[in-house]
Amino acid sequence: MPAAPRIARIALDRPLDRLFDYRIPDALSLAPGQRVRVPFGRGTTIGVVVELASTSEVPSGRLRAILEAPEAEPLLGTRLLELLQFGARYYHHPLGEALLGALPPAVRHGDPLPALTPETLWRKTPEGARALADGDARGRRQQAVLRTLGNENAAAALDRATLAAATGLQLAPRELHALAQRGWLEATTPDPEHPPPPNISDHALTPDQRAAVDALASGTSAPLLLEGVTGSGKTEVYLQMAERVLAHGHAVLFLIPEIALTPQLSARIQQRFPGQVALLHSGLAEGERLRAWEAARRGQRRIVVGTRSALFTPLPDLGLIIVDEEHDSAFKQQDGFRYNARDLAIKRGQLEQAAVVLGSATPTLESLHAATTGRYGHARLTTRPDGTHPPTVETVDTRVHAPDEGLTDPLLDAMQQTLAAGHQCFLLLNRRGFARVLACDACGWVAECPDCDARLTIHAHNPRAVCHLCGHHELRPERCPECAEPLAQRGLGTQRLEQALARHFPGIPLIRLDRDSIRHKGALEEALDRIRRLDAAIVVGTQMLAKGHDFPQVGLVGVIDVDQGLFSVDLRATENTLQLIVQAAGRAGRGSGGGRVLLQTGHPDHPLIRGLNAADYPAMVAPLLEEREAAGMPPHGHLALVRVEAGDAETTRRHAERIATHLRNAATEGLRVLGPAPAPRHRVNRRFREQILLQSTRRNPLHQSLARARHAWQADDLPRGTRIAIDIDPVSLA
Ligand code: ADP
Ligand code: ZN
Ligand code: ZN
Repeated sequence: MPAAPRIARIALDRPLDRLFDYRIPDALSLAPGQRVRVPFGRGTTIGVVVELASTSEVPSGRLRAILEAPEAEPLLGTRLLELLQFGARYYHHPLGEALLGALPPAVRHGDPLPALTPETLWRKTPEGARALADGDARGRRQQAVLRTLGNENAAAALDRATLAAATGLQLAPRELHALAQRGWLEATTPDPEHPPPPNISDHALTPDQRAAVDALASGTSAPLLLEGVTGSGKTEVYLQMAERVLAHGHAVLFLIPEIALTPQLSARIQQRFPGQVALLHSGLAEGERLRAWEAARRGQRRIVVGTRSALFTPLPDLGLIIVDEEHDSAFKQQDGFRYNARDLAIKRGQLEQAAVVLGSATPTLESLHAATTGRYGHARLTTRPDGTHPPTVETVDTRVHAPDEGLTDPLLDAMQQTLAAGHQCFLLLNRRGFARVLACDACGWVAECPDCDARLTIHAHNPRAVCHLCGHHELRPERCPECAEPLAQRGLGTQRLEQALARHFPGIPLIRLDRDSIRHKGALEEALDRIRRLDAAIVVGTQMLAKGHDFPQVGLVGVIDVDQGLFSVDLRATENTLQLIVQAAGRAGRGSGGGRVLLQTGHPDHPLIRGLNAADYPAMVAPLLEEREAAGMPPHGHLALVRVEAGDAETTRRHAERIATHLRNAATEGLRVLGPAPAPRHRVNRRFREQILLQSTRRNPLHQSLARARHAWQADDLPRGTRIAIDIDPVSLA
């Protein structure tokens, strides 16, 4: 008779490809997925039980005992454990790091799970309604709260977080209590067994939307690509899908690229399903995040809306995973466990038998290919419910109309007309800062970071020049250190464009939207609010402007410079540029009156520019797919990047060569090993980087060879400070 399993194999947050065996004390009974505290070295650490066993290779005298299990039940169910094991294998990453990283920081650090207290719901009293109508409620914030509660799109009673999302305000509890003291609000306690019913949509679905919702219900297990032009009502489709799934008692996981950039979307979901939504993203304080996660795990909140890592939230009876803006590269983690949440969402759907919907106006070539070849379902929304059309894209030839500080005459004329008609202008420039670089026109010297292969950029109102890779900054030199000529500012960033626009359009309210301008908490909400209230007629910004915002008054979108993205050598640069143009175009002409999109380019005859058609994205990117096929690139081939990094160029090169040799020795047929070659940014923060590209028509040979080679190089003695990172399905080769 085999002995009862008294040994647990435990994943720890260590960069090692192994589990750790511990003895289970007699008093403890454990299951896989459970959290434990174990002795490690001289201290203790938190781990997760992966397997139970009755024997161990560690001699029993050296086997240490588990100290405690904070909970009696597993935190990660078997399916989620399986997903993470799959992920660690697929991305060639240590299981322990992947697994512990999937838990909220507080859980990983050993904090106890919080008791769940029901949240107060706020309701507007008749006096509150009167105060709003009579103008007694004077403050803008008071009005916003009173207006939101009980309006036709919101539930009668909302919790503070939902109210904050719906009003776009940071609401403190005392602010709401103060309103209650005036008799305008009343606090109620929800019944966790009976959450308030969802709000009914005010829309009857269009036939296309109906077909998409029905496609989900047809019960096939393949993922569904929901491809819809901007403004075609994808969100409404998600909401109705969610409603249906919830009505059957299942939970919904809603992944979005970035919460901060799209407060409207999460607010819309929260308003539709009051009291049911847990928001999960890295902007939350640890305690808030833990409570939201626990409410989801315990089945108290049945919808999780979150960014990438929310994919790993335990949700009993998961029925549907939605990945909105599935093309967004924010779903790919760019360091450590480099997973793609979109791809793992598909895996999670398979494991938990949950439906998966990928939505976008500009899907990745991978998803489009899967949909057109029948591997995914494909639902298309080709029209907008309000009857408007995405605008056609016009080009301005910069060889004929030379731009001055980024602005050509045709663009300035179009702006004049748009402003005269009372509409807004959005100008897109994917580069932050003031002027790109400090350069010497006499000898060609350019200010560079001493620690990176990067030029320093300069920003308005900042006397220092900054490296955006490592953060190095220094006082701007006035004169060239080589030849002492005065230095010139070359290139164009959003700040400089903003200043040029202020000169062209004096007195016209203007705002800038980029990472620098929204650094302060609440700055983004305020900017979006100003745009919505038409308190800004011209908006200058980076790709942030092109995200899913819905502003009805945008009459013109100008793209300052597309050529850089179109002629980059990077794998997805062209695809991303086309996506950006189409998404940006989607911001124009949402309300009445249509809209224009002007694209400044020196290559108006480029086939991709000529083929621009925001109304039919698949047709527009067909030539790109052909190019990819000819080159054996995704989706017609699979890629992995192995990066080697060390403190000096020669060590890096030597080890990269050694690793490439391991890879070549392990390579099976059909796998190409390219490199090593210096990374496009060879030196960053005083460290050097070489990379090796693996390319294969089939997935399996790539993964098998990589696993074998990795085994081999792990046996090598790497000098300290050498780092090797594996990036499977990279989104960028830079
Ligand atoms: P998308 O997510 O595809 O960009 P949205 O779901 O935001 O589009 O919808 C765009 C606009 O159309 C929104 O203002 C939404 O309220 C409205 N809308 C969506 N579906 C319908 C419908 N069936 N009938 C009328 N209006 C709709
Ligand atoms: Zn010089
Ligand atoms: Zn630097």
